[in-house]
Amino acid sequence: MKRLPDSRSEAAFDRARSVIPGGVNSPVRAFRAVGGSPFFVASARGSKIRDIDGREYLDYVGSWGPMILGHAPQEVLAAVAKAAEKGTSYGAPTVAEVEMAELLSGAIPSLEKVRLVSSGTEACMSALRVARGFTGRDDIVKFEGCYHGHSDGLLVKAGSGAATFGVPTSPGVPRDYAKHTLVLPYNDLQAVRALVKKRWKSIAAIIVEPIAGNMGVVPPAPGFLEELRALTERNGIVLIFDEVITGFRLCYGGAQSIYGIAPDLTCLGKIIGGGLPAAAYGGRREIMASVSPEGPVYQAGTLSGNPLAVAAGMAQLKTLRENPSIYANLESRSAQLSEAFRGVVVNRVGSMLTPFFTTGPVTDWDSAAKADTKKFAKFHRHMRTQGIALAPSQFEAWFVSYAHTNGDIERTARAIHAFRG
Ligand SMILES: *Cc1c(COP(=O)(O)O)cnc(C)c1O
Repeated sequence: MKRLPDSRSEAAFDRARSVIPGGVNSPVRAFRAVGGSPFFVASARGSKIRDIDGREYLDYVGSWGPMILGHAPQEVLAAVAKAAEKGTSYGAPTVAEVEMAELLSGAIPSLEKVRLVSSGTEACMSALRVARGFTGRDDIVKFEGCYHGHSDGLLVKAGSGAATFGVPTSPGVPRDYAKHTLVLPYNDLQAVRALVKKRWKSIAAIIVEPIAGNMGVVPPAPGFLEELRALTERNGIVLIFDEVITGFRLCYGGAQSIYGIAPDLTCLGKIIGGGLPAAAYGGRREIMASVSPEGPVYQAGTLSGNPLAVAAGMAQLKTLRENPSIYANLESRSAQLSEAFRGVVVNRVGSMLTPFFTTGPVTDWDSAAKADTKKFAKFHRHMRTQGIALAPSQFEAWFVSYAHTNGDIERTARAIHAFRG
């Protein structure tokens, strides 16, 4: 591949690779799937991100979801600065944490009680432990193509088609542990019905992204979430909505508010931290009563409810609450963006969208995986030369932020039209 002339980023990447595995602190930041090497960031503001070579990109990664107001929004910066003056961590309760829990519970009524944690991974891992503790059952069900963080039992790949015992996707995950993760195809109610009928007594929880975002955007088929709710309720299974992406992305609340379904537990992250490490899990009062010290299920965190993260998250959430026009604006900009594509399948829900280089439809992992990833890689390189930053994988969501202007979207549309696949 031709070397891009961004010498500072490439030099930084060479340096990084000798002290950091693969040169990155999260594998999705590497550009292996699209070619080239990642740019190193100097700063970001609004819809733009700037690299250490002084190049500016229109950014549709948005830190993988949190930056719904764009980068460095004034409200969030001011709140963080003010909080930092008072100390950066106490390891003791604050009123701000209570306000944050009240805010989340007010926006998402199924969250009767909430525990703050520091990452989406922690939220999902903890919610599953609580579900197991509460039900006394060991198995969990997840859907192929859904990502719920990198905790051991969730790094499990599906066999094709029918339910399979989980096989670890990563070395380091014991088989004995992964076997408790049962994997089904997304949107496949037949498979869920069959599995629940056979094994309900051992299933603690079904965890699902109510709108999948981690195989690219895949919305739930009509009736999918409704029947998951009915089946779990009938069989004493805890239904967990992983709303780490969808929480506050589509409306002031969760995807659950849009679909009108109350899960037993919900996981949040990304947007609720305003770009700092805050996440949460919560739900039905009697289930959350199992969490230590109220109950026997242990879960803890030195930095949980960190004052800077809580200040940033609350500032972002209050801005969203007080400006309902933000979501209407995101909807129209995102619709405008999705109309720019020709000859690809665009899955979009609100301001999360994925153009799949396939003839579609894309409804689950198998249909997503038919996408032409070589063509996507070429598209990604083309967009980079046009000054537009996209996640370096076909199987990711693009995030439109409130800072993206009409002009930004038009510029993006021109860049898309200029692509000669
Ligand atoms: C990002 C993500 C997670 C993991 O969150 P981290 O903060 O990266 O640990 C979990 N679930 C979903 C749906 C996500 O998109």
